[in-house]
Amino acid sequence: MALRFFNTYSREIEEFELRNPGARPIRMYTCGPTVYSRAHIGNFRAYVFEDLLQRHLELRGYKVDRVMNITDVEDKTIRGAREAGVPLQKFTKQFKNAFFEDAGTLRIKRADEYPAATDQRYIDRMIEMISALISKGLAYQADDKSVYFRINKFPDYGKLAHFDLTQLQSTGRVKHDEYDKEHIGDFALWKAWDEADGDVKWDSPWGPGRPGWHIECSAMSMALLGDQIDIHCGGVDNIFPHHEAEIAQSEGVTGKKFVQYWLHCAHLLVDGQKMAKSLGNFYTVPDVLTKGYTGRELRYALLRVHYRVPLNFTWEGMNEARESLARIDEWLARLRKCSASVSLAGTKDRQAGSMPYTFEDALDDDLNISAALGFLFESIRETNRAMDQNEMDAISANAWLDWWKRINTVLDLEAEIDVTVPEEVAQLAQQRENARREKNWKRSDELRDQISALGWEVRDTKDGSKLTRRTGSA
Ligand code: AMP
Ligand code: ZN
Repeated sequence: MALRFFNTYSREIEEFELRNPGARPIRMYTCGPTVYSRAHIGNFRAYVFEDLLQRHLELRGYKVDRVMNITDVEDKTIRGAREAGVPLQKFTKQFKNAFFEDAGTLRIKRADEYPAATDQRYIDRMIEMISALISKGLAYQADDKSVYFRINKFPDYGKLAHFDLTQLQSTGRVKHDEYDKEHIGDFALWKAWDEADGDVKWDSPWGPGRPGWHIECSAMSMALLGDQIDIHCGGVDNIFPHHEAEIAQSEGVTGKKFVQYWLHCAHLLVDGQKMAKSLGNFYTVPDVLTKGYTGRELRYALLRVHYRVPLNFTWEGMNEARESLARIDEWLARLRKCSASVSLAGTKDRQAGSMPYTFEDALDDDLNISAALGFLFESIRETNRAMDQNEMDAISANAWLDWWKRINTVLDLEAEIDVTVPEEVAQLAQQRENARREKNWKRSDELRDQISALGWEVRDTKDGSKLTRRTGSA
């Protein structure tokens, strides 16, 4: 069965075929966190889905080059830094660190690059793109000195969201603070500096200011992955206006199709409502850990439902995740015991991998994780029965363990085994503990980065700092 995904652009299931086939990696761009507060587990549903997608593509033999941006300059980060009375970089750093810590807890593979919007390299790229759009008549500077994208000049605007532009016009509602724009739907590419921005500003041909959120992703994906990318992901709330705007900007500059496959995950809900900062109905990863659950259990709870189906977060769901993982753990323990035994019993159980509808096939079908897990638990039931009846020999048990090893490269759900922390890492962790005790946060952050560079993640819990091996590191 060929690999296929639901493409938001066409609203159809499409076979996955690379535009320029050959030995080149898949270029994948995933919208990352806005670092004005700790990401909530709704955000992490999107990142876990993207992790599943990347890992499945890799299981199918592709190499994936994945970029995830860090949005560290926009209205909320500027406001947050101002209210905290600290420079923007200092304010966002704590949430960047928290993001990596939580992603490690959830065993999310690291992307190849995490570009930050405030990096001068990308600011330059954004300015270049905006200049190109102005020279093509696709953007203009308004009286308020900000630069806007002229959506009327881009006929494809609205294609991703399946949005009718004329409806937007017909409402005739123009908010007072948007009087500078030619069209209510025109969006900011460059925001002119105002007092509330403090010292957050960059020079540009249009005066001091800062980039709009949408241009950040267009510029960073183009800088790191080229004009055309294969897969672009995010949550469904990113479809409009963010991704629609990215298409307009990128295609407006290059004249080439920006993204081949758009994949969006449905929301994580609480009591039927989107989990969101603004609604105050959110939990962070540490909130869930404090309740006594593990990162592995949360990973399972976020992973187990098809990405296009809204998922209601409940503590019963967390308990179910715990039970499911316990079944997997018990099964693996039994198989390991059986694989080590010298058994002469005949093999009546089905050999791993010989089933008509396998785990991988289910994931080929638009990442149908529910079917894939259904298949796993059916296999667990059958092999347990075979072991109960003494019908499993060591060779079969080993075959099942090999199969598990293979599918676990996608799931990453095995219980943590105690790994010895290298001396160098342990020493750095101790120095970090000392720095924290002295409230030397700068030093503590530097040490965390050094620990991270050695492939370890440090997590601060109420019982002290814990070290875990970083997922995806060698
Ligand atoms: P933000 O930091 O708000 O830009 O969001 C980061 C990512 O999380 C984006 O891909 C959003 O679409 C996604 N997201 C935000 N809230 C939820 C939610 N409740 N469920 C799933 N994904 C979400
Ligand atoms: Zn984005």
